[in-house]
Amino acid sequence: MSPPHRLRLDCAALVANWRWLQRQGGGAACGAAVKADGYGLGAREVVARLAAAGCRDFFVSTWAEAAALMPLPAGVALSVLHGVRPEDMAAATALPARPVLNTPEQVRRWREAGGGACDVMIDTGINRLGIAPGDADLLDGLAIETLMSHLACADEDVPQNADQRDALLAVAQRVPHRRLSLANSAGVCLGPDYAVDLTRPGLALYGGLPRGEAAGHLRQVVFPEAQVLQRRRVPAGASVGYNATWTATQETEIAVLNIGYADGILRGFSGTGRARVGDATLPFVGRVSMDLVAIDATAAPGLAEGDWVTINYDLPAAAAASGLSQYELLTGLGDRFERVWSD
Ligand SMILES: *Cc1c(COP(=O)(O)O)cnc(C)c1O
Repeated sequence: MSPPHRLRLDCAALVANWRWLQRQGGGAACGAAVKADGYGLGAREVVARLAAAGCRDFFVSTWAEAAALMPLPAGVALSVLHGVRPEDMAAATALPARPVLNTPEQVRRWREAGGGACDVMIDTGINRLGIAPGDADLLDGLAIETLMSHLACADEDVPQNADQRDALLAVAQRVPHRRLSLANSAGVCLGPDYAVDLTRPGLALYGGLPRGEAAGHLRQVVFPEAQVLQRRRVPAGASVGYNATWTATQETEIAVLNIGYADGILRGFSGTGRARVGDATLPFVGRVSMDLVAIDATAAPGLAEGDWVTINYDLPAAAAASGLSQYELLTGLGDRFERVWSD
């Protein structure tokens, strides 16, 4: 039986966002980050849809994520961002995916296993993952498909962006590679100087707004929906929910939704979240519970037990309402949702 909450996923919006990001990159190829199960949408479904639209380069974090995507659509390449631990080597040599080598130890391990085609991450200043530019000699003779780096502050206008790009271009002079890659979603918005050969957006594909330049160009992809479990009338002076944080100032119609923080609608939405049915906006009241959310249904007199409402999940607005990042809003969406693509 289908669960009482579902994610409606808009394939046309996903593909339109990818095409917009591709255009921003000038002549660069546009890939897609699909780690964390496609940012919560379902990686296999995202890969199938973007591959059909022409996307050829996908990125996950771990080999478990890579294995879960097999078999890949024809003509598609997959890179594993966290490289190879000893316990990854069996998967890394068997699966049709490339490791992104991040440390001298990973480079040594990959060479000893035969050193097939790989990608390499250069650390140009984020100080998270990657080979230091000063260690680039360690890469001699590797079959490097994509030489890449990652921007720390692409969502800000700071000199570090150009510094990181220049540092990557300098390493690229010395290290043979087939393609160069730097930009995530926000990096794509910095312009074609940052796109080089291949971009790696994630957030913006899924409707997140990485920088102001993208406003008005990206479409919402993810629409959480939940069913009404009970409708009730509460009198003035009565409270709703745990710890009685909301009290009715007048008689109020309440609808209780079959969704909660265990689904990723976190407690930061208490008192600030919104649901929608037709043209009516229905504010969350009281605390979000594990499996339930109460809304003021006064504006929707016909809304009844079993009806569906849509949770407002425009990512920049929902981030402002909840105090969560747009990334957390996507990756926190729980396993209980039925994921329903509109295509
Ligand atoms: C997650 C990730 C991306 C995508 O970042 P967004 O900000 O979601 O566009 C690109 N590159 C690397 C190395 C990543 O880890």
